[in-house]
Amino acid sequence: MTPSTIAIDGPAASGKSTIGFYLAQHLNYLYLDTGVLYRAATWAVQDRRIDVGDEAAVTSLVEDLVFDVVPPTVDDGRQCTVRVNGVDVSWEIRSPRVESAVSPVSAYPGVRASLTERMRTIARNGHVVMVGRDIGTVVIPDADLKLYVTASAEARASRRLLELQAKGKTLTYEQVLAGIRERDHIDSHRKAAPLRPADDAILFDTTTLSMEAMFSAVETLVAGCRTGNLHKERTYGTV
Ligand code: C5P
Repeated sequence: MTPSTIAIDGPAASGKSTIGFYLAQHLNYLYLDTGVLYRAATWAVQDRRIDVGDEAAVTSLVEDLVFDVVPPTVDDGRQCTVRVNGVDVSWEIRSPRVESAVSPVSAYPGVRASLTERMRTIARNGHVVMVGRDIGTVVIPDADLKLYVTASAEARASRRLLELQAKGKTLTYEQVLAGIRERDHIDSHRKAAPLRPADDAILFDTTTLSMEAMFSAVETLVAGCRTGNLHKERTYGTV
């Protein structure tokens, strides 16, 4: 059977969103990049001038927020339109200001509980590719197919730098690498739902593995699910 729920996890700029988006289009499934929910929550915290260190105030705000993640409503290169309480924040959530606070906000168990519940509601309908940090371990541990995509911090920083430069941003490689390392550290050391591969995830290391090679390996995996021949190969690239 074709897998109905597909969980893809991994650190920033590992290529997980690229493969997730591709796979969702290939299968005609819903694509949800759950990072946008944590980013949108962080944007709202900053917009309301709430102290990021005030766990109770941050959690209570996030519990009351209404999020919409829909296909692009404006043709300006966005992958999706993200609204918080009706306000379009699709570009604001990508700012360095949001990026610097998103990992501390995401570490609060109450914030995670609130967002995880919403993700599970979406996953319940199936036919979904969900991308994040804890999808295969916590959000949908019974997902039909789980992938974990990683790469060296240096390779990810180089990739992210190119994306930022294409958007006219003037950060240095060292700044981007430091930001990635800091988020990796907080995301993988937090108590609630830390970043780690699920025991039954198939691992991809895109440090040297090309996107094309990953696409073709994932297509083979999905076809393997259909024929029941899944999980012959558990690691792609050099994890
Ligand atoms: O994937 P992206 O870089 O947009 O995620 C932004 C941040 O949101 C991550 O660094 C992490 O702190 C948080 N996040 C999370 N759990 C998820 C998705 C994202 O904690 N499932």
